[in-house]
Amino acid sequence: MSAKDVLKLIKDEEVEYVDVRFTDPRGKLQHVTLIVDIIDEDFFEEGFMFDGSSIAGWKSIDQSDMKLIPDTSSVYIDPFYAEKTLCVHCNVVEPDTGEPYSRDPRSTATKAEAYLKASGIGDTAYFGPEAEFFVFDDVRYSVAMNKVSFEVDAADAAWNTDTEYEMGNSGHRPGVKGGYFPVNPTDAAQDLRSEMLSTMKRMGMKVDKHHHEVASCQHELGLIFSSLTDQADNIQKYKYVIHNVAHAYGKSVTFMPKPIKGDNGTGMHVNMSIWKGGKPLFAGDKYADLSQEALWFIGGILKHAKTLNAFTNPATNSYKRLIPGFEAPVLRAYSARNRSGCVRIPWTESPKAKRVEARFPDPAANPYLAFSALLMAGLDGIKNKIDPGPASDKDLYDLPPEELADIPTVCASLREALESLEADHDFLLAGDVFTKDQIEGYLALKWEEVYAYEHTPHPVEYQMYYSC
Ligand code: GLU
Ligand code: MG
Ligand code: MG
Repeated sequence: MSAKDVLKLIKDEEVEYVDVRFTDPRGKLQHVTLIVDIIDEDFFEEGFMFDGSSIAGWKSIDQSDMKLIPDTSSVYIDPFYAEKTLCVHCNVVEPDTGEPYSRDPRSTATKAEAYLKASGIGDTAYFGPEAEFFVFDDVRYSVAMNKVSFEVDAADAAWNTDTEYEMGNSGHRPGVKGGYFPVNPTDAAQDLRSEMLSTMKRMGMKVDKHHHEVASCQHELGLIFSSLTDQADNIQKYKYVIHNVAHAYGKSVTFMPKPIKGDNGTGMHVNMSIWKGGKPLFAGDKYADLSQEALWFIGGILKHAKTLNAFTNPATNSYKRLIPGFEAPVLRAYSARNRSGCVRIPWTESPKAKRVEARFPDPAANPYLAFSALLMAGLDGIKNKIDPGPASDKDLYDLPPEELADIPTVCASLREALESLEADHDFLLAGDVFTKDQIEGYLALKWEEVYAYEHTPHPVEYQMYYSC
C-alpha cells in the first residue's frame, strides 16, 4: 500500500488517530498516538521523531533523538480503541543519516530478509509460529482451576506440588495434561478464543483455527504462514489481540513459558521454509522428503541452538519449560516422527508444505529477533554445508543414559544462553543483519534479568531450607 492509499483509507474510514507502533528489544509493542490532522504524505516519508532514551536497551539520554519510519504495508484499524484509529508498524532509523538504528528489532528482520535474497539461496523465508498461552481469571482463580489449592497464591502455584490435583471432583475441569481437547463445558473458553480469532481476521490477519491446549487453561490460535517481518508483525498483533480480548472478558493472559509447575509449558514452535524462483527449496528426496539444503538448514539450527536460545528462549522462566516430559525439547536432535527433539519435520504429502519446525522457541521471544536469528543459523548451515547427523526417531525422553550422553542439549538457563551468545555470534553478524552494538545492548539487558533472578530468594528455597 502506498502513502496515497493510506491517506485514502484514512479518509474513507473517517480515521481520527494514527497509532505509530514499534517493538523494543525485549519484544514489547510500544505506541504513540497522533491526531489525524497532522498526517500527510510527508509523514510517511519523513517519519516521526521520538525520545529513544526512555526505551530500555536503546540510546543514552545525551543522544536520545530517534525517528520512526512507518511501513505502509503494515496498516490496520485498531479493534479496541473507542476512536477510529489506524495503526502502523515502524522501523527505527537514525535521524541524521536515515540508516536503520542498529538495535531496532524490526530493522534486523528487514535486513535478514534482504540478506537471504542477496545470498542467492532463496527469495523468501516463510514462518509459521504456533504461540500458546494461558488464560487465567485472575491468579488465585487460575490456581484453583489447576486444582492446587484455593488458598495459595501465584508464587505457590509455580512450585507447590504437595496439594496438587488432590481436590477430588471439580466438575468439568481439565486435569493435568487433560486440556487437549474435549468439547465444552470442559473447554470453557470457546467463545473467548473465537472472538480473538475473528478480531484478528477483521484486522486482515490470515488465521485458520483455534483450540484448547494440553495444559488446563492453555490455548492456541492458528496463524497461516507468512514472510519474516510480516509474521513478526503478526505475532505482535496476535499477542495484542489476545491480551485485550481476554481483558474485556475480565480475564488475564500470560505468554510466560512455564506458569504452572507439573503441567505443559507454553511454546512457540516456529515452522520455516525457504522458496526460490517460485519453488519450495526444502522439498527433496532425502530423509523425510527433505532436500539437502533443508538438512543443512537443520544442521545450522542444531549447531547454533544454544546461541539461538538467547533470542528464542529469552526469559529466566523459559528454562523451566525446557525439561523432559512436557512436549518441550531438551536434546539437540531432529526427527520426522517424535516431538521430543529440537527440530521436527511435520508430515505432509505436499512439497509446497514441506517445512522444518523448531520446537524450542517460546512466546517470551522478541519475534523479529528470534525469527531473524533462526534464519541466520539455518543459512549458516546451508552456506557451510553443516551435516545435522542421523535423525533420532526414538522417543528421546525414554533413551537409556548411555545413548542420551551422546546427544547435545539446549541451554539449561538464561545464563548459559547469554554465555553462548557471547561466544558464538559471528553467524548473526553476516551481512550486518545483527550488529555487535546490538548484541552488546541485548546482552546487557538480559544479564540484568539473570542477576535479578539469581539474586532473589525463591519461594521453594523457603520450603526446602527455612528449617535447616
Ligand atoms: N506446549 C508444548 C510446548 O511447550 C507443545 C505442545 C504442542 O505440541 O503443541 O512446546
Ligand atoms: Mg501447541
Ligand atoms: Mg507444533
